[in-house]
Amino acid sequence: MRKTASRALAALFLVAVICIGLFVYIIRLARDGDEWTSFPVNSHAYRSGVLVKGTITDRNEEIISAVDEDGQRVFSDSESARRGLLHIVGDREGNIGTGILNLYSKQLMGYDFINGTYSLRGNGNTVHLTVDTELSAYAYEQIKYRKGAVAVYNYKTGELLCLVSTPGFDPDNVPVIEDGDERYDGAYMNRCLSSAFTPGSIFKIVTAAAAIETVDGIENMTFECDGSCEIDGETITCSGYHGTVGFYDALAQSCNCAFAEISQLVGANTLAKYAEKYGLTESHSISGITTAAGSFTKAPDGSTDLSWSGIGQYDDLVNPVAAMRLMGAIASGGIVREPYLVDRITTSGGLPTALVGKGGSSRIMTKETADKLKDMLSYNYTSNYCYTLGYIDGMCAKSGTAEVGEGEEPHSWYVGFIDDPECPLAFAVIVENGGWGLTTSGTIAANVIAKARESGCCS
Ligand SMILES: [Zn+2]
Repeated sequence: MRKTASRALAALFLVAVICIGLFVYIIRLARDGDEWTSFPVNSHAYRSGVLVKGTITDRNEEIISAVDEDGQRVFSDSESARRGLLHIVGDREGNIGTGILNLYSKQLMGYDFINGTYSLRGNGNTVHLTVDTELSAYAYEQIKYRKGAVAVYNYKTGELLCLVSTPGFDPDNVPVIEDGDERYDGAYMNRCLSSAFTPGSIFKIVTAAAAIETVDGIENMTFECDGSCEIDGETITCSGYHGTVGFYDALAQSCNCAFAEISQLVGANTLAKYAEKYGLTESHSISGITTAAGSFTKAPDGSTDLSWSGIGQYDDLVNPVAAMRLMGAIASGGIVREPYLVDRITTSGGLPTALVGKGGSSRIMTKETADKLKDMLSYNYTSNYCYTLGYIDGMCAKSGTAEVGEGEEPHSWYVGFIDDPECPLAFAVIVENGGWGLTTSGTIAANVIAKARESGCCS
């Protein structure tokens, strides 16, 4: 009897262990099944390490990457489009870490828990992006022989239309990239998302905003510029001899002497607070892709370094998408609509899969400050930039020419937006060592915006 009882107990124990094991397995399968199937050794979804499931389309449902009849991963027919979309779509080898082929491999495969790997017998899902192929190809052509980034988005809807990064390469004709080859410096990185650069004078927008809200009478003050000025016994050089300038002209002429003084009036703590509040020192999530955070170091009050930090030099760093996002907030009366890249994901039968996050919106500055900044950025354009770039309806912008070291050409920046409900676009352009902000990046931005209007990207 005793023997039978102990055997029954042992059998019960065994059954319990099996049940627990099965339970844990099912829970883990439900939770991690898509992760397990997305390993490149899974021959249902990968061929020689290349994902051969899933389609990626642009905002016009134009296919920008798919799997052909022979089961090969293919990209756009046009070389400029392949290059312009490289950092968004990714490459076959998976070197572009932030590419959709990498980050959305599970969704592209279309794995589901109920059907298991049987669900991988189809062509996979379609990831519908917000980018415009024609605009991306055009932006790439504008910047191609230089290193930099062009980011454009609709500040009312949050749709990202263009996120071009150079240098890159043609994914259909991949070069051999050796370590230290300058031509391909950072070629696998999307500079729009994963880099932060010295901002130079585009940072004066933040300093101006902080002054509007914290320095009494700032709009009636005047500043003196003799081509240079002294702060804490050291010389701050300016790009010109501006004489006596008011607050608006200080920004329009980008007078370093005026902003050296304004930075001292604002103070390091307040400047740091505004850089943070405006999202320049933090990372953002763009459809699950994390952007590089910028930085702002508080220099001692009264120091030359504090003046330089308010001018956009010193230790300041800004990410292009964060700069574009801030432009969108100013354009929208202080409310930022978060940019996003993935519009929706559908099965091969056209049915939507799980909902994708589209960012949402939040207020980052008061309407009064946003409207004042909008006036100032519009004045920059009408009183100064339009003589170089020609008349562009609704253009509000700030150029930046950021010093990056002795003997090196400065980084060229141009950020802004179109103040027009029919064409609500915000943008950021940077060309590394590109020289003057206005002439190099301003020209690229003006051309890209004209192209966006022409190709129906405004709605
Ligand atoms: Zn000046």
